[in-house]
Amino acid sequence: MLNFVWFRNDLRLRYSRVLEAVYKQSLKVIPIYILDTKIFHSEETSPFRRTFLIESLVSLKKALQRYNSTLVVLEGSPKHVFRQILTRYKIDNLYYSKDYTKFAKKRDVEVRKLIEENNGKVYAIKNLIVFDEEDNLLNSNNAPFKVFTPFKKAWLQKLESNFQILDFHYHIKEIFVDSSIIDDIFKGFDNLVEIDRLVINQKNDEFHGGEDEASKVWNDFKINQIERYHNNRNFLDFDGTSRLSPHLKFGTISPYEIVKFCFMNRRNKGIDTFLSEIIWREFYKYINIYFPHVETENFNSQFNNFPWEFDRDKFLAWCNGQTGYPIVDACMRCLNQTGWLHNRGRMIVGSFLCKDMHIHWKEGERHFKEKLIDWDKTSNNGGWQWVAGTGTDASPYFRIFNPVLQSQKFDPEGKFIRQFIPELSTRTQGIYT
Ligand SMILES: Cc1cc2nc3c(=O)[nH]c(=O)nc-3n(C[C@H](O)[C@H](O)[C@H](O)COP(=O)(O)OP(=O)(O)OC[C@H]3O[C@@H](n4cnc5c(N)ncnc54)[C@H](O)[C@@H]3O)c2cc1C
Repeated sequence: MLNFVWFRNDLRLRYSRVLEAVYKQSLKVIPIYILDTKIFHSEETSPFRRTFLIESLVSLKKALQRYNSTLVVLEGSPKHVFRQILTRYKIDNLYYSKDYTKFAKKRDVEVRKLIEENNGKVYAIKNLIVFDEEDNLLNSNNAPFKVFTPFKKAWLQKLESNFQILDFHYHIKEIFVDSSIIDDIFKGFDNLVEIDRLVINQKNDEFHGGEDEASKVWNDFKINQIERYHNNRNFLDFDGTSRLSPHLKFGTISPYEIVKFCFMNRRNKGIDTFLSEIIWREFYKYINIYFPHVETENFNSQFNNFPWEFDRDKFLAWCNGQTGYPIVDACMRCLNQTGWLHNRGRMIVGSFLCKDMHIHWKEGERHFKEKLIDWDKTSNNGGWQWVAGTGTDASPYFRIFNPVLQSQKFDPEGKFIRQFIPELSTRTQGIYT
């Protein structure tokens, strides 16, 4: 009789609804991660993201070892891996965090079917966001929200009256099967992966994966930045934002932990503004749940016949940071060289691609997927549809970010531009054009 916790985008031991559910059932579980090599090695997976994932897995394994357990990492597609386990053992219970994209839902339906056909039970637990479709967060017509501001208001009200949902009660040390037993169970599996041996070929030294690292970043931000977040968050030449997005993507930090702190310390402009951004993340997942067509189509069908133009040379110039517009080029080079781009930068280059070059937002969406360390299907899609003007409460089609004005305002001394455009590094004037 085996029970599993299948870790995916929830690579942490603290503030986890999944681990709490296991604890409440008094079960002992085997922690497993499945390395889907097709995705891992795909050209669409940014090498920076790959590195961050490896570091997060290594860190999770070390954390489990502190509780005398370990992390089993098996290579293959999830369906294949569970079928392989089932040829030797019965799986009684499988726990994982519920995910909301079409890809994840299809994968999870297949795995659930397989486990249930073999008389096991599957528990998909809400763990990636605070409210999902289980919570009926709907407008007065009982319909899903389509606009951020009323969504945020309802979200905050719901949280106010359900604050206890941010509490957790479990003891990590009572949850996991001992590593010696796990080693015996998986002896002879030829697709076991030694994660510490996976090759790292591109790394951004400003970002490190893992739960301990996430706590460090979060604590630093809370102490040094959060109260000034509303003033500093838009500057490209200053680290005024949390840089927690890769941690939220891989779940090395829990949104519950962040929301709890912010909610308990409200009435501070910086903290309220920061919480709002966290709610944007929730909002795009919510939109994906109720309007899954956004993954491949415009949220707003009014734009379905928009005459996008695809000019390959222009697109490549944009991708490579060679448009001739310093701020656009600096942002794209920053993205390509580091896997990271400030939100303001994402908006500037997004607007430039869609509204100046008239290239379809899907092209930008794909390029970001290939490059970003924090790529997240729903936030990326939401961001792109927002800049293109095809999404939820989108910026109207006539609102275009002027690259020169944007750089004068948000990179006032041209520091960011000089950092990424060496050709301009010695120029003292005329940096913006
Ligand atoms: C075109 C475009 C593409 C984007 N693609 C992604 C993506 O793939 N992954 C991703 O995590 N974010 C994406 N964003 C949102 C945003 O740019 C990043 O979340 C933010 O820059 C991350 O930096 P930070 O952690 O310092 O953010 P902070 O300002 O510190 O915000 C805290 C957290 O709130 C969330 N958040 C902040 N802004 C947004 C937003 N506009 N939409 C959704 N969530 C938000 C993130 O989880 C972020 O980590 C995109 C935005 C645009 C305009």
